[in-house]
Amino acid sequence: MTTIAGLATARGFASGPVFVYRGDGQVPVPEYLVERDRVDDELMRLKRAVVETKRDLETLISILRQRTGRSDVRVFECHLMILDDEALKKETKGYVVRDRLNAEAAVRRTANGARRQFERMNDPYFRERVRDLDDIERRILKSLTGFSSGAHIELRTPSIIIADDLTPSETVQLPRELVLGFATNGGSTTSHVALLARALAIPAVTGLVDITSRVKPGEVVLLDGTNGAVTLNPDESTIRQFNDLVERQLELAEEATRGAPAGTLKSGGDIPIYANIHPGVPLAGIREQGARGIGLYRSEYLWLNREMEPTEEEQFVAYRDAAKFASGLSDGVITIRMLDIGGDKLVRGISSKESNPFLGNRSIRYLLSHRDVFRTQLRAILRASAFGHVSIMYPMVSCVDELREASVILSDVKSDLASEGVPYDRDIHVGAMIEVPSAALIADELARHVQFFSIGTNDLVQYTMAADRGNESVAHLYQPTNPAVLKLVRMTVDAAKRAGISVSVCGESAADPIVGVLWAAMGVDHLSMSSTYIPLISKILAHLTREDLAEYAQVPLSVPVGSTAQEIFDACHTWLAAKIPNLDDILI
Ligand code: PEP
Ligand code: MG
Repeated sequence: MTTIAGLATARGFASGPVFVYRGDGQVPVPEYLVERDRVDDELMRLKRAVVETKRDLETLISILRQRTGRSDVRVFECHLMILDDEALKKETKGYVVRDRLNAEAAVRRTANGARRQFERMNDPYFRERVRDLDDIERRILKSLTGFSSGAHIELRTPSIIIADDLTPSETVQLPRELVLGFATNGGSTTSHVALLARALAIPAVTGLVDITSRVKPGEVVLLDGTNGAVTLNPDESTIRQFNDLVERQLELAEEATRGAPAGTLKSGGDIPIYANIHPGVPLAGIREQGARGIGLYRSEYLWLNREMEPTEEEQFVAYRDAAKFASGLSDGVITIRMLDIGGDKLVRGISSKESNPFLGNRSIRYLLSHRDVFRTQLRAILRASAFGHVSIMYPMVSCVDELREASVILSDVKSDLASEGVPYDRDIHVGAMIEVPSAALIADELARHVQFFSIGTNDLVQYTMAADRGNESVAHLYQPTNPAVLKLVRMTVDAAKRAGISVSVCGESAADPIVGVLWAAMGVDHLSMSSTYIPLISKILAHLTREDLAEYAQVPLSVPVGSTAQEIFDACHTWLAAKIPNLDDILI
């Protein structure tokens, strides 16, 4: 029996056979003729991709050595050797120079040739090398194309998906009923596969480094998304303990949803809890888990996995249906966030290749530079606002200019609708996500242009700490309790209070028992999270009074100067555990 520790990414437990997904190696790659004067550029692309792949492999090897102290990094060292193989390099370059093939097709052709040679050999060692080739090929292609090509995962039986990493497009294509859980080498608790796993209520563990090479397809494993572990070859007593945990978690969820509305405090009063949703992901379970509204509708998912952009009518129908659904929840509200593409959410056809997409023309920047897309989406949202209590939210706001420009366009679209006699909510609220440090720093100015702020800690932590939210090797830096992040959240909340506008947190840290409750204590008006976490946070809030929250808000301020993110987190945990004696039972 072996237990591999990873990041507890989506709560819940699963046991079952594994399906090892190897991604891009299985899908067709673009093939085209490179113009004669572009051959050198194509060679340069190829070279860059190989260098990037090599660097990634070296990082992986060093993480493996540090984390496990094991010597079985051999498989990746072998990958490095294949990558450095002069004959393979020469062959690939030949396809580009002689046949003027694009780099992706050249890589595929070399890999196919080598695969055929290995497969013909009788020696099982060499036949096994085919998997290594697949892996290397996939890595180089990923680096060349910038994002995964959205392979179909052919699942036939309920399984736990084990993968290097999954893109949002791959994840949303999976048949929900056949996915028992996710376990990935890469990723983090706020990577998009993580958010989707939470939205789909599928347990997940990420950051497992090399799990794909440690499991055999079909073998049965135990996956514990609550504590972040995957157990291979479990023995009888481990299986029994695991089943007990499953039972306890179910009981707690049931208990939490039987009581008062989500977010009700012990002393009365509340911090309402809303759900984050992805269009295309079933809404079932949101009401049952106690969501009182929809605090974040990630509209960009309407753009994923399709060749054409959604039309105004398609968007309108989706927003209207979501608004009607939200009307059935106790607070009846829905906040539709406008197209938040870019970074790791790449949409075929409209995402251009940028050398640094996280700092590129994304989200509101994209919308402002593509007015037709912006106007169409605004029209669809405004039309839907006649069917429920809808708010509009702009993603990745980083300066006042963006809000000014957006508000001119919004007024224009509103007057178009008015002159066409199309009904919409004339008092519709408009808000800004605060997820870039600059926005938190100028929150006072931004507050003059909007009716609410929603703090997106997933990105705020990433941009404050300059630590990729999806990269497990910098996960230690990615902590919402870092004093720098806490300062920015405090500034945002204070600015909102001064301006008399509302402020919430919709980043996944809201679903962390220690951190989410801290945001409530620091004064946010509501929290929004994956609905599977609502019962948990609600249950903790039900143990606290307003006075407790006021005291809790002081904990990060009363630690010694120079305390680290982890020390602040630990101080908060200690305070909460002293206040709620059965906290560990609630958290299991
Ligand atoms: C965030 O950044 O915290 C957020 C809620 O947006 P997303 O996770 O979709 O980037
Ligand atoms: Mg974000």
